[in-house]
Parts: sequence; structure tokens; C-alpha cells
Amino acid sequence: MKYNFWFVVGSQFLYGEEVLKTVEARAKEMAEKLSEKLPFPLIYKVTAKTNKEITDIVKEANFEDSCAGIITWCHTFSPSKMWINGLNNLQKPYCHFATQYNREIPNDEIDMDFMNLNQAAHGDREHGFIAARLRMPRKVIAGYWQDEKPQKRIADWMKAAVGVAVSKDMKVMRFGDNMREVAVTEGDKVEVQTKLGWQVNTWAVGDLVKEMNAVTEKEIDELMSVYSSEYEIATENTEAIRYQAREEFAIKKMMDKEGCQAFANTFQDLYGMEQLPGLASQHLMAQGYGYGGEGDWKVAAMTAIMKAMGENSNGASAFMEDYTYHLAEGNEYSLGAHMLEVCPSLAADDKKPRIETHHLGIGMNEKDPARLVFEGKEGDAIVVSLVDMGGRLRLICQDIVCVKPIMPMPNLPVARVMWKAMPNLADGVECWITAGGAHHTVLSYDVSAQQMKDWARMMDIEFVHITKDTTVDSLEKELFLNDLAWKLK
Ligand code: MN
Repeated sequence: MKYNFWFVVGSQFLYGEEVLKTVEARAKEMAEKLSEKLPFPLIYKVTAKTNKEITDIVKEANFEDSCAGIITWCHTFSPSKMWINGLNNLQKPYCHFATQYNREIPNDEIDMDFMNLNQAAHGDREHGFIAARLRMPRKVIAGYWQDEKPQKRIADWMKAAVGVAVSKDMKVMRFGDNMREVAVTEGDKVEVQTKLGWQVNTWAVGDLVKEMNAVTEKEIDELMSVYSSEYEIATENTEAIRYQAREEFAIKKMMDKEGCQAFANTFQDLYGMEQLPGLASQHLMAQGYGYGGEGDWKVAAMTAIMKAMGENSNGASAFMEDYTYHLAEGNEYSLGAHMLEVCPSLAADDKKPRIETHHLGIGMNEKDPARLVFEGKEGDAIVVSLVDMGGRLRLICQDIVCVKPIMPMPNLPVARVMWKAMPNLADGVECWITAGGAHHTVLSYDVSAQQMKDWARMMDIEFVHITKDTTVDSLEKELFLNDLAWKLK
């Protein structure tokens, strides 16, 4: 889907035809110039002067799948009661851009006509009031439209809004159930579909095996040549790699047929399969699909959504698991990895990921599964976890700084990412555990905490952010107040 955003400009008839023509011409110019800077086109739609014009454009926006949100602005004053009916119907993300056509007050030119034409300063206040009064989830961005800073904020918000569109269209393919007895990967699928739009359904592992058996040697050869161009083949066990190609081809075919953007499986249910999909899942993630291990469909969908929110719908966002700690005083790190399935979009660019085969004792593997092994790249990132609190969803986000792993760990047979958690390892862990965050997360170098906050607001779910300034005390208080607030909502 090629998404776009609509620019809806508020005005009224009071100022006469000339002013309205000027407003329209300028709004068009602004939309065109902004579109050159933004990741998605901003299309000027209307200078709205009546209740009907606003209601009509909202209905149209709701109906148009390619419209990922509206951006409003008031060049002149636009009485807000005429926005109520339209805004009440709005089902798309909404950003109010408080800006002004001219940057400076023109000393000689300014007179009462100029004031009537250029009154965003109070037009945008009237417009802002009604959204506050209606308790609408919206993003308010203020600043001069030709400046980089507000443009960057609009760009980021647009990507979060695209995350909303992707979420509302999300289909997750489950193979097998959640890992037995695990709590945090469970959740209310009906509630999640109501709130986030996700269609989470199950397909038999037997159907996948049937599909795998139908994959031809030629199809496997094609994937093998992709693997050998993208990765370093560091095993003699070609059969294991070919088996992963067979799995990848079959999973992809089933997902594409059903329109699924994410999948989950579990090592406890591989009935009829020789290997847990390792390389297969990794290469599917590299193509933008979401994945969750142990039946974790929540993290699978979040991975796909955050990949779509990333730079070019294949950004460095990936399924991750907190595995083990390095607790040397003053030198504390978290080591993230998974049994096999770490997306190579996280890999440092100095070396190609290596395809290796190793024994995997856990689960039902008859044969050694092939997997990609690599080190994660350095840089600021976040880890995100969506948990079901019973009656509501909570999105927990923690700021982290990824580093080059401080040791080579030559016997670790899986890809690994190492990071410093904010505010520090011990407090960060206390905060994460207090909030109920899972061991599975989406780790992202592309998507910011602010974007996840915007996304959570648009989806109307709780957002908890653990930053360099968070303390356990402040977080406990916040969670207590959130609990009360969400019960009252
Ligand atoms: Mn896991």
C-alpha cells in the first residue's frame, strides 16, 4: 500500500473570496513543498468553511485505504463548532500542525488585512480547543513549516500513523499454540482485534509440512543462491540449509496466500518437521515479516508493525529476547539473542552474517538446524514489549544503547546483541519487571520511543517509557496512577 496524508485547512466565509483564494493557493504550495521533505505525500484537500465540508472530508478519509491520516491547520480563524460532527466521525490518525505561512511579522506591510489573513495564532487555538474538549487522541506539532525540526516531527508522526494503518490490517499466522504454561506470551485475541485490529488465527503444522513437501528443488535452488549472495556459508551441511530454504518457501507461500504479515511458531510443535525454522525465520524477518518464538503472536505482530514504521519497510527492528546479564560492577550489559531467530537487519555491517549448523537440544529437532550467526550493530535503540494486563494492553518501551559485544563468545551458536539498559542495568531491570515487561521484545534502531508513544496514543493503549531519568519510585507511582486512570476510562 502506498500511503498518503491529507492536508485539511480550516477557515470561514467571513473574510471574503479573495482571502479564501489566497489561503487555498498557499495551502497547496505548503503541501507540495512539505511533500518534498516528508516520507509520504501530503495532499492538500480542502479549505473547510462549513460543517458539511468537514464532515464530508472526514468520511472520505475514513473510506480511503491509502489515506493514513489527516493534518489540519488554520491559516485564518475557523470556528470549531463546525468541526465537531466531522471530528466525532474521524477514524484516522490526526495531527494538528500549528504553523504560519509567513515566518516573520512584516513591519511595513502589516495592517488589519494582513492580520485577518494571517491569524493562525488564534485560529489554531480555537481548533485545538475542540479536539481537547472532545478528548481526541491527536498529535500537536508547532513550528515554522519550512524548518527542519517540525518537518522531522511530522515525518516521525507519519511513520507512527503508518504503523496504525499496518496494525489495523495485521494478520498473524500461528503454527501451534503458545509454549506450554508461559503467561506473558498469552493475551486476549478478541480484545487485541477490537483495539489494534489484529487478526490472529491458527494454521495446522501439518498443513505447513504438506506445503513444504510441495516445494521443488528448483525453488530451493533459487533461495540458496539468495542465501549465498547475502550470507557467508560456514557449514558443509548443505542439506540443512536446503531444508531451511524449503521451510522458508512454504511459510512465505502460506502467509502470502492468507495476506499475513507475521507468524509465530513453537519448538514444542514441529510435528513432521526435521528442524526448527532458524535461517528460514531469519530471512523472512529480513524481508519485513514479523516473527515471534514460542507462539508469541503479540511480539510477531509488533515486529511487523515496527518494521513497517522503520525507514523503508525493512528497517532494523527485530524480535529479541533478553537472555543473560554481564554484571561486572560499572560494566553491566544485557545480552540479547534467541534460540535461533534473530533478524539479520540488526547485524553490524563489517561482516556478512554466517550460516552455521549446530545441535539444538531444546524442542523436537531431529536434525541440526541452520541459522545465521552475527553480532548486532552499535547505536541508540529501544526495546518494546506489549503485555495484556487483563482489560487493557500496556506497551512498555525502554531506551537502550547497543554496543559491539564486549567479548567474542566463540562457542555461542546464535546471533547476539549487547546493550546497556537505561537508566542502568539494575534499575532498568527493576522498572521493566515492575511494569510486567516480557522477556520477548522488539528491538529497534529505527523507531523512536516518541513514535511508539504516538502509536500507543493513536491505538488508545497504555504507554510506559523507561528512560535515563526514570527511577523505580517514579515508575511505581506512574503505574499506580495509570491503573486508576485506565479503570476510569
Ligand atoms: Mn523466546
